[in-house]
Amino acid sequence: LGHEPVERATPEAVAAAVANGPPALPDPPALDSYLSRGGYAALRAARADEKAARDTILDALDAGALRGLGGAGFPAARKWRLVMAQPGPRHLVVNADEGEPGTFKDRYCLEKEPHRMLEGMLVAAHAIEAEACWIYLRDEYPHLRRMLEREIAALAAAGLYDKPIHLRRGAGAYICGEETALLESLEGRRGYPRHKPPFPGESGLFGRPTLIHNVETLWLLPEILAEPGAAVRHASMGRRGRQGVRFFSVSGRVREPGEKLAPAGVTARELIEEFSGGMLPGQRFAAYLPGGASGGILPASLGDLPLDFGTLDAQGCFVGSGAVVVLSDQDDLPEAVRNLVHFFKDESCGQCTPCRVGTAKAARLLDAPVWDRSLLKELAAAMADGSICGLGQAAMNPVLTYLRHFPEATP
Ligand code: SF4
Repeated sequence: LGHEPVERATPEAVAAAVANGPPALPDPPALDSYLSRGGYAALRAARADEKAARDTILDALDAGALRGLGGAGFPAARKWRLVMAQPGPRHLVVNADEGEPGTFKDRYCLEKEPHRMLEGMLVAAHAIEAEACWIYLRDEYPHLRRMLEREIAALAAAGLYDKPIHLRRGAGAYICGEETALLESLEGRRGYPRHKPPFPGESGLFGRPTLIHNVETLWLLPEILAEPGAAVRHASMGRRGRQGVRFFSVSGRVREPGEKLAPAGVTARELIEEFSGGMLPGQRFAAYLPGGASGGILPASLGDLPLDFGTLDAQGCFVGSGAVVVLSDQDDLPEAVRNLVHFFKDESCGQCTPCRVGTAKAARLLDAPVWDRSLLKELAAAMADGSICGLGQAAMNPVLTYLRHFPEATP
């Protein structure tokens, strides 16, 4: 964020990096390794006693308070029941197209233990009696695509699945992380978001009931099903009355940025101090984005708010997919806001006028030396009311929350 990083690589460091080539990519554990550690026990249990297992799984989802962790936080069990209530054939889609700035949890999960996600996917597909599984993978992760091709073939060879698993590449469009745009893309069309309703649970891929889950949700599933009591234990790990754990992608001016598995309800200050080694030397915590580009911006004085679905509504913010970007007193905050709105302008799919024209106009207004606050607010209201999907509806969140929480520092 911002155009002037505080620390730049020296010419010598750049020359050394070029000479040494790119750093080696991690080699995720293969099927044999996962099986040797008890992997696929949840899938075997689900297949052993179909009806009982289905009820047990749904009860565990409820007890574990598992939510869809792609951004909306819809309770997973309710999502599954909605799909199961529709006549088949049904589909299971894995959204592995993370494009939210600051989010890198899909990559982390798939590099750390890909078969946890694949097992969660197969358990879910089994429970909803899906005809096929579809994985829509971000194209910027070619090493993960090669790994998944290899490991899916290994699964087939081991007889661990009997339904088709289709691995599909995205093509770099941020909007294709939106679930209905993703479905359009999977069907071979341009990734334009659909009007809702109907929701994908009723009419999704090829018009069939479709369960769509983010990588993280499915990755957490085998652990919740691992043994009696595991789901309740998972739910009990939240802080401040919130339930469960989840990944927060922490980036920005901290000593140890990275993927942090932390309790729901953790605060930004705790993520910095307890999970990320504190701020970088010489930098003072000034502000943070609690939920990537669209979740708004908050001052450090509100760094003790619990981070979870619904906890930041009163501040006009949300946690979304858990990308926490930490900014310091050396960052140009208006420039960061401008940068985010330019991002949305570039990534708008252009299907609807309020977003296509609104993001371009907002970017122009923010490029002016003095921001026209009332016009920006009016534009934001029109975009929120009239845009088809979440991109246009939330694109002005950084602006609105900046105007609200940093009134004295607004250009
Ligand atoms: Fe496309 Fe923006 Fe409309 Fe969404 S809100 S459909 S991204 S133009």
